[in-house]
Amino acid sequence: MKENSIVILDFGSQYNQLIARRVREMGVYAEVVPYFEPLDKILERKPKGIILSGGPASVYLEGAPTISKELYHQGIPVLGICYGMQLTTHLMGGEVARADKQEFGKAELIIDDVDSPLFQGIPNNSKVWMSHNDHVTKMAPGFVQIGHTDSCVAATYNKELNTYCIQFHAEVTHSEHGTQMLKNFVFNVAGCEQNWSMGNYIEETIKNIRETVGDKKVLLGLSGGVDSSVAATLIHRAIGDQLTCIFVDTGLLRKDEAKKVMEVYGENFHMNIKCVDAEERFLSKLARVSDPEAKRKIIGKEFIEVFDEEAAKLTDVEFLAQGTIYPDVIESMSVKGPSMTIKSHHNVGGLPEDMKFKLLEPLRELFKDEVRKVGRELGIPDHMVDRHPFPGPGLGIRILGEVDKQKADILREADDIFIEELRKADLYNKVSQAFVVLLPVKSVGVMGDERTYEYTAVLRSANTIDFMTATWSHLPFDFLERVSNRILNEVKGINRLTYDISSKPPATIEWE
Ligand code: GLN
Repeated sequence: MKENSIVILDFGSQYNQLIARRVREMGVYAEVVPYFEPLDKILERKPKGIILSGGPASVYLEGAPTISKELYHQGIPVLGICYGMQLTTHLMGGEVARADKQEFGKAELIIDDVDSPLFQGIPNNSKVWMSHNDHVTKMAPGFVQIGHTDSCVAATYNKELNTYCIQFHAEVTHSEHGTQMLKNFVFNVAGCEQNWSMGNYIEETIKNIRETVGDKKVLLGLSGGVDSSVAATLIHRAIGDQLTCIFVDTGLLRKDEAKKVMEVYGENFHMNIKCVDAEERFLSKLARVSDPEAKRKIIGKEFIEVFDEEAAKLTDVEFLAQGTIYPDVIESMSVKGPSMTIKSHHNVGGLPEDMKFKLLEPLRELFKDEVRKVGRELGIPDHMVDRHPFPGPGLGIRILGEVDKQKADILREADDIFIEELRKADLYNKVSQAFVVLLPVKSVGVMGDERTYEYTAVLRSANTIDFMTATWSHLPFDFLERVSNRILNEVKGINRLTYDISSKPPATIEWE
């Protein structure tokens, strides 16, 4: 399967995910790797074609991401998209400069070489999507123009290197025939075969896990979130009881979380799960602490301690499994200027030096929606697979200020009602992340003719694609009214409810 793949070198474009998805949807395995992946590592994968993605940098500036020129001389066809085109031009001796004005949006592509394999089945004039500040001012030697718009060289080709470049983003749907162009590259130029599906990805991964692990034991921190749950289920499918999961109930989880996790993964899937009730430990460490960063640190540190203590009780564990997914891989690399530091990403919050586990990360190549697909194929129920993200410190950062059990109980009830109503109204999957926040603010209310003096809570619901920017969800008023009635009537301790209408930036999705 992997010997019939496309490798996408990631230069940081917001559309990379789409390139990989388009190719995988064609039935061909596509893997996204950071642009600085060493050439020999890329070649080890034996790709049939390489796509260079777009990216925010400018090739002519110092420290701009670059690659070895050797890449073009491996007999593997290359397709450079946007930054990928500019980089290819720059490396091969052409010129790229800042354009007079930025071009963003639809443009008309006019094909100059109608016989080009890249443009088979595509009309001579079509709409393509542009997003760039720079453009090619002089093509590199050996390259010919195969397409243009009224403002730029839109496509080039080098026969000897079998390299194509396009200035526009073929991967977005606004490029009318973009998918066809990518198909042309994948099948006509790179000669891939259709042999990839989620089903055989799962099979292959299971086989790999078995080979890697052998008869050794694997430990995994199960949080109940999508990534760790899918990783656990996949590994369990591969090696059964050689996997032990540790689930830490911090006392800062959603309502009935431990029970749900044990039901789904313990009882239904028969996984070996050690559920540790650490509520008191966490809450006593958090007592009287109100600074958000201090709370996060305490929770993180305590989590690692509990996890380590449990791990130490097990013998012969050789692997630590994590639900790291591709966006985590990227996030944990800080790429700044000419130098870059690569930190490894730890879902469990950091490994102690002396544990010497080997890492097992079966979801490293997948995007979130693909992880969900794998989860569904493995039979994980929808309500677990489609869950919104939940922060590591949990309710500890949704209870503003000091945290205690009473507040956590109040918040759990309110949050549960909000989520239940979202699901009932078929809105849960239409928003990206929804939850309730409890403020350290009391106000006066009246109930049954009696004065009350209780907490204020906030409903937060955000819509986002990448969690970098977000808007508040435009939930219907009658829905908000229903939630408000229920929370104010059913949850003792809250007598005032507000709706957060802040976007990110300048606010964040979580409050602390
Ligand atoms: N940063 C480059 C430019 O502005 C490439 C942009 C891109 O790849 N989308 O032209």
